[in-house]
Amino acid sequence: IANPTELSRRLVAGADDAPAISAPDRATLTHGGLRSLIATTAAALHARGIGRGDRVAIVLPNGPEMATAFVAVAAAASTAPLNPAYRADELDFYLTDIGAKAILVAQDETGPAVTVAERLGIGVLRLVALPEAPAGSFTIEGAAIGPPAAPDMARDGDIALLLHTSGTTSRPKLVPLSHANIAASAAHIGATLGLMADDRCLNIMPLFHIHGLIAAVLSSLAAGGSIYCTPGFNALRFFQWLSEARPSWYTAVPTMHQAILPRAARNAEALAAARLRFIRSSSASLPAQVMAELEATFGCPVIESYGMTEAAHQMASNRLPPGQRKPGSVGASAGPEVAVMAPDGRLLKAGETGEIVIRGPNVTAGYEKNPDANATAFAHGWFHTGDQGVLDEDGYLRVTGRLKEIINRGGEKISPLEVDDVLMDHPAVAQVVTFAMPHDKLGEEVAAAVVLREGMAATEGDIRVYAATRLADFKVPRKVLILDEIPKGATGKLQRIGLAAKLGL
Ligand code: ATP
Ligand code: MG
Repeated sequence: IANPTELSRRLVAGADDAPAISAPDRATLTHGGLRSLIATTAAALHARGIGRGDRVAIVLPNGPEMATAFVAVAAAASTAPLNPAYRADELDFYLTDIGAKAILVAQDETGPAVTVAERLGIGVLRLVALPEAPAGSFTIEGAAIGPPAAPDMARDGDIALLLHTSGTTSRPKLVPLSHANIAASAAHIGATLGLMADDRCLNIMPLFHIHGLIAAVLSSLAAGGSIYCTPGFNALRFFQWLSEARPSWYTAVPTMHQAILPRAARNAEALAAARLRFIRSSSASLPAQVMAELEATFGCPVIESYGMTEAAHQMASNRLPPGQRKPGSVGASAGPEVAVMAPDGRLLKAGETGEIVIRGPNVTAGYEKNPDANATAFAHGWFHTGDQGVLDEDGYLRVTGRLKEIINRGGEKISPLEVDDVLMDHPAVAQVVTFAMPHDKLGEEVAAAVVLREGMAATEGDIRVYAATRLADFKVPRKVLILDEIPKGATGKLQRIGLAAKLGL
């Protein structure tokens, strides 16, 4: 990047008067307005001693200010958005791991974020929202943390964003992403979806996770489009936002789509007025049944994409018509190169199952303070995703599971996703998660938790009998728990590892 104007024009690329950020009951912030906010935020940070390379944790509720603060702080320093629901111990761990110099909180924040930051000697900055000004406008208050910093904006190789992985399979790992990484990812997503200035994304994703930050916020802004920022996912208010905001798309994790679908019939008016061009799904496997139901309900294509924190989100994606979308596949490479590798480092052919590996401009340079994880993750010149998959002749990828989640039943390897797919076909099943439960002789045994469709009934026996008609005996869940809700991680993901213990099995 040659100069500051160039960075802010790359992050926020629209015309001066084009809409950028909107929110319920707020005036719209333009691309020009957001670029000014980047400049005033940089000045406020520099004056307080924060500049290039300094790490600023952001602990804010979901909403327009969270979106604009992320973009504006990243342009001058390094951002680390944190889940505002974290308690003192979690904040202590994350703020220390990140090496935060300052924390940005809401003006009226009274939670543990402030006390923990003060205890750790981290500067506290307060974001003052301006409710009468366009959505996302703010100023910064707080004492200087050091002598004024050089008034430079971030460069390509500087860390723009620090995020921990979701912690689905182990302790969360700290992933630094450079400006070059996030710009590449935003551009890849924009190109895959054909995003343009008149596209408006309805954001229901949490903005402390890579999916919402890059796929909803940054890809929209880099394409010159806009985002309608909600306070966070709420299946009851979803249809209201749909009629108020008239978005052209939204992106979500499968559990959110599954919570939206049963409410569609009661919201026929909002549905009829909707002008969705497509729906995007990512971050976990989308059952084919849910994809079909979404397409029938909303009358637009559903694009499933494959993403991860380490790739600044998107790796592969299905394509909009006239391109192909294949139910059950996460699509073809849409950003980095995608290949499937054998344990000895050999790249496999179409039809052969192995570990999914990637390389490209959006992939992180490596985990922080984790040489062991890096040695494994970057073996043989590719980044190892830890996911298992298979490519077809068209280069479309099917994710068959996470290597760590494969159920090992006395040496017999079972993909929980395969069992999920079969149980989802049962007419009474709305949601399912298959997982390993401990077994004294076999080591692990197959178990499943299901949520039933509203007004439908089925017993554990019914579901097991059904599974037995479709699956070899060793894959049939020995135990099926029927629950009102399946426990989820903070980003809405179902967690297979540790579920048996959580459910007392
Ligand atoms: P951790 O790495 O800490 O265990 P995590 O992998 O869940 O947590 P994320 O980076 O949020 O953290 O998620 C990336 C993972 O999500 C991918 O590696 C893959 O397992 C899964 N995933 C993402 N999109 C899809 C998809 N469309 N289909 C199947 N799995 C997906
Ligand atoms: Mg991971």
